[in-house]
Amino acid sequence: MSNSKWEDGVRKVVPYVPGEQPKDTNIIKLNTNENPYPPAPEVRDILDSFDESRMRLYPAPDAAVLTEAIAERYGVSPEQVFVGVGSDDVISMAFLTFFNSGKPVFFPDITYSFYDVWADVYRIPYETKPLRDDLTIDPEDYKKPNGGIIFPNPNAPTGILESVDMIEDIVKANPDSVVMIDEAYIDFGGESCLPLTEKYENLLVIQTFSKSRSMAGMRIGFAIGSKKLIKYMNDVKFSINSYTMNTVTQLCGAAAVKNEKYFRESVDRIIATRENTKKILADMGFTFPDSKSNFIFAKPPCKSAEYLFNELKKRKIFVRWWDKPVIRDYMRITIGTDAEMDEFIKAVREVIAE
Ligand code: PMP
Repeated sequence: MSNSKWEDGVRKVVPYVPGEQPKDTNIIKLNTNENPYPPAPEVRDILDSFDESRMRLYPAPDAAVLTEAIAERYGVSPEQVFVGVGSDDVISMAFLTFFNSGKPVFFPDITYSFYDVWADVYRIPYETKPLRDDLTIDPEDYKKPNGGIIFPNPNAPTGILESVDMIEDIVKANPDSVVMIDEAYIDFGGESCLPLTEKYENLLVIQTFSKSRSMAGMRIGFAIGSKKLIKYMNDVKFSINSYTMNTVTQLCGAAAVKNEKYFRESVDRIIATRENTKKILADMGFTFPDSKSNFIFAKPPCKSAEYLFNELKKRKIFVRWWDKPVIRDYMRITIGTDAEMDEFIKAVREVIAE
């Protein structure tokens, strides 16, 4: 296809490819790190009582009801909280706001594969830093001049948790750039570095309601940081689109974050299933880094990860596999319910025995 002249001025990008969302509901879906349990019951109450005439009105641009509920839960002031339409929206806004120096931004070579896409779309230069052989992050790589730093903790898709001390070491070494820690999976057994935001004005911590709060479909993410960081992000957000989060979502999010007991129980269930799945996979000869997330990044003992991925798909069990160097030997398995994991293990045994 020949290029028309007008296309020379188009912003061309290679988009991020999310995990498949099949139309068929009769699938064991272990491919996008969703939570198998429903959100807190208060979310149902909000939906039942919502007066649709409120839809005439624009939503609160600052999503105050949600921002305040998050601030209260995490013991910070509402001016230290930025909410967005999923943490993808929050991270994208943060890239646009903070990675603006012209110097390269650093992130690991094996990590959330949206980071390089945002860097490309915003024309931000970046350098990836190789993980060590054991798939951990080497903090020394992040102590060179840079235009910003981002990585998830636990990292994705490895599931490996780095310590708060290691993160503080990196933040301390980088007073001249913004350091972002993407804590999408922190609630599944990791120690959050949120307390460090009180000490370091340039540290932004990002979390989501998509995993531990079972609300991926509602699209709620947030960042916590110094008032200065959050003010800069809001200035950019309000220069693009004021009304990003709808009213129902704001109310549902606020209701969900208030139910601490339900949150703990649902997270604990997933952790228990994960630990049980680890034991079974290890007994079968799978190898994997120790995951502190709601997924396991596992290398099969025989047959390739690609083969297993395809065979499981034929049996209506979806996991994730990437055709990329280093990680092509692994498949990422989201932790579902115990019953789903039983089905998964049964299918894996079948495929391996063939
Ligand atoms: N960060 C990481 C590391 C993720 O794996 C994901 C989920 N794809 C996200 C951020 C974005 O999640 P959401 O936009 O649903 O909050």
